[in-house]
Order: sequence, then structure tokens, then C-alpha cells
Amino acid sequence: MTRLFPPTLLLAMALLCSGLAGPSLLAQPAPAAVTLPRVHFVATGGTISNRDGGRLTAEELAKSMPGVERYARLTFEQFANVASSELSLAQWLGLAKRINALYASDKDIAGVVVTSGTDTLEETAFFLHLTVRDPRPVVVVGSMRNPSTLGYEGAANLLEGVRVAADPAARNKGALVVLNDEINSARNVTKTDALRLQTFRSREYGQLGVVDRDRVVFFNQITQRTNERTEFDLANVAELPRVDVIMVYQGASGDLIKAAVDNGAKGIVIAVAGAGATSGTQQEGLAYAAEKGVFVVSSTRTGSGRIAPPRSDLPVAAQATEAQRRRRMFSVAGEDHTPVKARVLLMLALTRSSDRAEIQRIFSEY
Ligand code: GLU
Repeated sequence: MTRLFPPTLLLAMALLCSGLAGPSLLAQPAPAAVTLPRVHFVATGGTISNRDGGRLTAEELAKSMPGVERYARLTFEQFANVASSELSLAQWLGLAKRINALYASDKDIAGVVVTSGTDTLEETAFFLHLTVRDPRPVVVVGSMRNPSTLGYEGAANLLEGVRVAADPAARNKGALVVLNDEINSARNVTKTDALRLQTFRSREYGQLGVVDRDRVVFFNQITQRTNERTEFDLANVAELPRVDVIMVYQGASGDLIKAAVDNGAKGIVIAVAGAGATSGTQQEGLAYAAEKGVFVVSSTRTGSGRIAPPRSDLPVAAQATEAQRRRRMFSVAGEDHTPVKARVLLMLALTRSSDRAEIQRIFSEY
């Protein structure tokens, strides 16, 4: 037997279905106002701002990204407006301290984007990678073509940098380098071509992710210490110690190493051939450095590959000379860091320790 609903109930059901009943019955909870993440943009200069007739300011760059308001609430500041290689080490310290201070005082910021020239971008980015102690990301962006050039890609790179900085998945990955739709770790990335757009590569390590039309995609992870796990606290660092990079090449003179030591270097990175070779009279220079208590980090000039530390369980040979023992006391293996990155890490390591084993530990953990 079919059961009939009373007419009033049918009317109520019809109203319910048609959406005409009173709000107490049908209203959906009002959608919470979606607050976009806030991204703070710090401009330092570089080709991305180097317009003929006058550099673009942070404000002009911020306004150059159509549609940025779909992804983030943007705030900005002008830190500098120079080529990357013109930034001083004092400015590096100032930049890292500024970003740490911003993060400490402003919990509303989701991420920070820094624009930089590309020539030494990998060094600045690695410095920030090691010294910004917060889970939130620092995304370093540049461009290969300047704003007066047809095909300028700066605004696109900057917008992609903002999207990465706004993405919670970018947290705890250290500093990230975003150009050309690709996300690379500041630890692994190198500028590999003087002119081409696809210059920033992480070689055998690969990209961490990509920035696509629909979303930011991460498919790789960084395993070394970063973010809150980094031990480099710049609070009491007023100046970075001098560290020089010396290249190995056929018949090279050790005089350059001696000159670096005599001019105040506290550390030297020797860009060795292959897995450790020096040439010419460089061994004499290295012995001189050890005599003067200057740490020498070996890093391969090949562009990739690792210099492994000596086995710590092997005793120094009984017949080793005093000079050889001293060499060992001041020698550190650069692991897989390129010479310029090893130099950044050694500067910071020397702010923490003057013990060889400690400095070697640092090279193995970052
Ligand atoms: N390519 C240069 C750099 O890395 C930029 C040139 C400039 O901004 O003057 O900074």
C-alpha cells in the first residue's frame, strides 16, 4: 500500500528541495572568508630589476605581476638594488638578520621572496639556506633577461617565487631557488650557463619541484640540516671571517695560498683536481697554511662529486713528520659542496669552532 504524505509535509519538502525555505532550515554555513597567505618580498637588485635608464624598485617589481592577488597578499621592501656580485658580506649578514627578524616578529608571513642577480645567486641563496632559522621558506628569484629585453622573464619568475613562498609544502626545505618554472635547493643548485634561461641546475641531484599552471609540485626532498635544525646563529656575528678559494691547475704556484694566509685568510678552500690532486708547488702553500693554523677545505673543481673525509679510526702513520701531522690537523674534506659553496660553509663553520673534527662534522651535516 502506498503511503501518502500529508500536503503540508509535501510543501515543506518541496521548499526544502527548491531552496525557498527560511534560512534557519537551509542556509549553508557562510564560507569562511579565505585569507590568502602573506608573502614578504625583499628586493636586492640584479638583472631582474636592471631596466635601461634606471633600475626597477621593489614596488615596481611587486606591481609587475598580473594576478599575484590570486595567490598572496604581498608586502615588500627594498634592501639593495645592485648586481649580485656587488653585495658585500656585511650586506649578506644584514639580509639574513633581517629575514630572521621578520620571521621572529611577524607570524603572519607565510614566506619570504628575495630577488637577486643571478651571477652569484647560488652563494647568497646558500648563505640564507644556512642562516635563516625558521620553518618558513626563503625563495630566491632572479632573471636572465633584463626588463628592457624582449622575452624578459623576471615578472613570471617572481610570481612563481611568490607562489612557492605561499605554499605550505615549501616549509622546512631550506632556501629555494626559483627560475624558469623550476625549484632547486640552494644547497645543490649552480649557475651552469652564462646566458641561457635554463641555467640553474642541480646536476645529478635534480630539481626539488616545479611550478606549473595549476599548482606548485614538489617531488624531491633535501636530507641535510636546514631551517630550525641549522646551528648557525648570526645574532652575535658582526663580521664573517675571510675565506679564499684557490683553484688547482697544472703547474700552479703555492704562492697564492701563502699570499691568502699572509693577508688574513682564516680558511682556504682548495678547488682540487678530481678527488684531491693539487699541482705545481701548491703543497708547499698548503703546508704553510697548516703551519699558520689556517684550515684548508678540499672541494672538487669538477662541478660534482664528493671529497670524503679520511677515516678517523686510522692512526697517523708513526713515521709521519710533524708537518704532515699538522697538515692533517687543519685539513677538512669538503664533501659534495662546490668550491664557492664550501667557502660559504667554512666562513660559517669558523664562527662556531676552530676544531678540525667539529668543522668536518659541519661539512658532513649540511
Ligand atoms: N647578472 C648580474 C647579476 O648577477 C646583474 C647585472 C646587474 O644587475 O647589474 O647581478
